[in-house]
Formats: sequence, structure tokens, C-alpha cells
Amino acid sequence: MDQSNKSMHFIRQIIAEDIKNGLPPSSVHTRFPPEPNGCLHIGHAKAFCLDFGMAEENGGLCNLRFDDTNPDKEETRFVDSIREDVHWLGFDWGDREFYASDYFEKLYSLAEELIAAGKAYACTLSPEEFKEYRGVPGKPGKPSPWRDRPPSESLDIFRRMRAGEFDEGAYVIRAKIDMASPNLHMRDPAIYRIKKAGHHRTGDKWCIYPMYDFAHCLSDAIEGITHSMCTLEFEVHRPLYDWFIENTSIINTLKVRPRQYEFARLNLAYTMMSKRKLQQLVAEKTVSGWDDPRMPTLSGMRRRGYTPAAIKNFCETVGCTKFNSLTELSLLEHCVRQDLNKIALRRMAVFDPLEVEIENWDEGKSELLEAVNNPEDESAGTRKIPFSKRIYIERADFMENPPKKFFRLSPGAEVRLRYAYFMKCKEVVKADDGTVVKLICTIDPDSRGGNSPDGRKVKATIHWVDAESAVKCRAMLYENLFTRADMSALPEGSDFKDFLNPNSLTETEFLGEPSLAEAKPGVPLQFERIAYFTADTKLSAGGGRPVFNRTVALKDSYGK
Ligand code: ATP
Ligand code: MG
Repeated sequence: MDQSNKSMHFIRQIIAEDIKNGLPPSSVHTRFPPEPNGCLHIGHAKAFCLDFGMAEENGGLCNLRFDDTNPDKEETRFVDSIREDVHWLGFDWGDREFYASDYFEKLYSLAEELIAAGKAYACTLSPEEFKEYRGVPGKPGKPSPWRDRPPSESLDIFRRMRAGEFDEGAYVIRAKIDMASPNLHMRDPAIYRIKKAGHHRTGDKWCIYPMYDFAHCLSDAIEGITHSMCTLEFEVHRPLYDWFIENTSIINTLKVRPRQYEFARLNLAYTMMSKRKLQQLVAEKTVSGWDDPRMPTLSGMRRRGYTPAAIKNFCETVGCTKFNSLTELSLLEHCVRQDLNKIALRRMAVFDPLEVEIENWDEGKSELLEAVNNPEDESAGTRKIPFSKRIYIERADFMENPPKKFFRLSPGAEVRLRYAYFMKCKEVVKADDGTVVKLICTIDPDSRGGNSPDGRKVKATIHWVDAESAVKCRAMLYENLFTRADMSALPEGSDFKDFLNPNSLTETEFLGEPSLAEAKPGVPLQFERIAYFTADTKLSAGGGRPVFNRTVALKDSYGK
């Protein structure tokens, strides 16, 4: 990673301070806790670059912990995709792949402890009553009529809940904390509920499941997490987390108390970070899947040609603050371009072809010219590209009546064909309706390789493909998924789908140099003077025309 952009953000400062106060750096222990109910997006990348990054920087450890407390929505395929995405960014959790469900037995016993100590009770209120009794922030809530149920009775109910004796919703177990607390999360929150659903890992073993708030903080404690980073919305849950830890026997087992630190979530312009809404786009087939290259998911970005280095650099650059803000998409694209410029293989492709016939070239003669793969990286080597009597150039690189500042091809003008020859336009062939259908040109045989034969200069270099050997390809041109920058705050009464960009995908055909027939998915390419592309993993697989995803345009608009 680019080391130069590392900033001393508040979490780095906190850890540095802890180390100064005696915490051995290698004891820094963090975790990334995704819920396996969807694929990871760039916001999650910000979170896990921080979790893994802070551990890595200090020689500590970071666990991957799946927070799988809601059996309704979780699936094994998401577990697999999350693993793949975290690995893709170069992080590894060794043998520390954990699941909240690993701790169901332990969590159950901690809940029993709370009940036995009179610190939790079985409540029979319906969900509507629960809400009504809890009340609103300004004034105290109303205690449940079951709040003082004797511990022995609550314990008996809890055990029978586990045994499957009751229907869903018949009881919940609630922590007995403070119905007058200004913090609603402290007003006797639910810690266990009945859910008669199979779990992707524990199968039918359980019909009661711990609530996220109960499981999350205790899982941190069980794993010996020192720094538990999460997004700002969990700040108000922190007192509850502390309460669970302080009021169960887990506190006696701790070497270091887990501390939670909250940072602002990433909001990225023209896209959306809500898993629920992304899921909706997938379900309604607005996009082709979680890995549609327009999606803000890591799998989508990978398919589109974004690189791990670019994403890590982006996450480091956006840093970590306590203030919610909207990050410009152009910053992410800037990071992608910065990396691609270093590593992308240069290729030639023509999107809007105009035929050129070389008058002074023998019919049937073909020559192989040497082309540099990457001017930024000599080790990328060279390749041979064929040149023969007919080539294609971009229609936009020719003007019959050019204005003064147009330096590309026009009648009588001379340009350089990239890696090939100096070429002059002799004649314009037109159809009956006046459209230009072909140019007759001559090349200077002494300028092979595109080098000036006598020191004379040309003002433009244009790209081209050889007509005989050109490969017909398809390109997927992506634009922003949404037309509105701030999708995290929508105008009253509008739906996120009102802002879908109808032009987010354009498919088009183009002609590519022969090497594109063998382009490997995921290998970054720059089609010279056009954009960065990569071969698609899915669409190219079935044979036929190779398909290329446009990763990002060449021109950088960041900070402009
Ligand atoms: P859900 O609504 O399903 O809980 P989620 O986006 O919070 O969605 P999780 O799987 O719970 O998904 O998130 C895992 C971790 O990633 C959490 O620590 C969460 O705080 C963090 N995270 C989620 N979204 C963002 C974001 N936009 N920016 C930074 N971190 C995020
Ligand atoms: Mg979450």
C-alpha cells in the first residue's frame, strides 16, 4: 500500500495511547463482524481495512467473526463471498474464523445467569405492547407487568422456550435495566427470542436465538477483543454492551476489557450502502446480481476491474472520523486510475471505425510491429501487432474540414499511427449521401515504429487496428447507478429507485487488436486513448465474442 497517505486518525491515536500506557502492541486484537446476509460493499471494506489494518500495523490479530444471530436472512453463500472478498484485499484471519453461533451455548448460559440473578426476566408482552411500554426518549417508559416475575419462574420459562414448548412471540427474555433511562436501548432490551427457523450452521438445534446486541459484545469478550470498531449508530448501544459485560461472569475471565470505538460510515456519492436496498436491486433484477459491475460491492468492483491496491488506498485516504459525510466518487476513481496507470497493459481498440486503405502498401503483405505493453513498467515487455493494407481508425480522429486547432487526420495532413508509421491522407471516399466511408492514405516506409525519418514532426498520434486481424469484441460501458449524489438522504416521499440511472449500462461492439482474443478476466487493460477495461469473468466464459467491462475513464476529475 501507499504508505504516504497514512494519517494519524483518532483510532490510531487511541491505540498508540493504549500502547504508551502499557498494552503490548502485539496484544491489539480486533475483529471484523459481518452479518452473512449479503455481499460486502466498499463501506465494509472501509471497516475491515481498519480492523485488519490496526491489528497488522501493531503485529496483533484480527478475527473474522460472522455475526449470524438472525437465521432468517443468513446464507452460506454469503459466508463464502465474504471470505473471498476479505482475502482479495490481502487480509488473512488464520485459524480465527469464528461465528456468533459458535457461542450459542455459552450465551445461553450467560442469559440463565442474568435471569437467576434477577437481572433478566421472561416477558409476555406482545411486540406492539413492548414498544408502547418502552415509550419515547423524553419521558420514562412503563415497566412490564412481568418485570418482577420471580427468577425461578423466568428460568423455567427460558428452559421451556429452548425446549420448543412455545410459539414464536409467546415470550421474550429481557434484561432488567432501567425503564426510565433516557437511552431507549437501556429500557429492558430483549436478549432472547423464539424463532422456529433452521440456522445455516446450527440447523434445528435451536429455536431461541440471542439478539444481536446481546451476542455481539459478549462475543467480543469471549474472543478477547481489545479494540472493537464499529459505525456511529452503535454509539448509543455502548452502555448496554458495557452492562452485559459487567453483569455476567464473563467479566472475571477478561485479561483486557473490550472497548468499543465508533467511526462514521462511508457514504459514497451516486451509490448506496444499504444492504437491504442492494438486496432489493438484486431480487428485482434491476442489476444482474450482487457482482454486477455497477454495484458498490467488492465482487462487483472486482469484476469491473478495480484493484485491491486501489480500494485499500481509497480506504486509507478517506481515513476515519466521527463525522458523517459524503465521499466523492471521483476520489475512488482517482485511486483506481492511479493504480491502473502503473499496472494496466496498453492495448489498441477502435470503437467507431473508419476504414483506411494504405495506397503504397502491397495487397496481401502483413508486417508485425513491436508495441510496448506498459510505458510505466518496462518489465511488462512488448508484443507484436500486425499491420497490413487496410486498417481502422476512430472516425473522430478524421475531419474533412478541420478547424484550426484540429491536429489529427484531415486531407493532406500527416499523423503518427501508434507503434507503426507516419501516415498522410490522400483522398476521401464518400457514399452517395456524402458520408465518409473510407480514406486513402500513404505511409512513410522510413518511419517504421512511428519514428520520424528526418526529424520532421507530427502533432498527433492516433491509435488503430489492423482490419484483417481485428477481433470483434463487446464492451459494457458503465455509468453511475444513480443520478443523485447523496443517496443516504432522499427527499421526502421519494423512493431510492426514483433515482436509478437509466443509462447506467450501454453495450456496444468494437474492434480490438488480436491479443484481445486471449485477454484474461481481471487483468487490467488500458485501451489507448479510450479508457481502462478488463475482460469480464462471466460473459466471456461462454466463448463467442470477448466481453470487456469499462473500469474507469482515463480522465481524472478528482479535485477539479
Ligand atoms: P445490516 O443492516 O445488515 O446490519 P451492515 O451494513 O451494518 O448491514 P454488517 O454485516 O452488520 O452490515 O456490517 C459489518 C461491519 O461493517 C459492521 O462493523 C459495520 O459497522 C460496518 N459497516 C457497514 N456499513 C458500513 C459503511 N458504509 N461504512 C463503514 N463501515 C460499515
Ligand atoms: Mg450491521
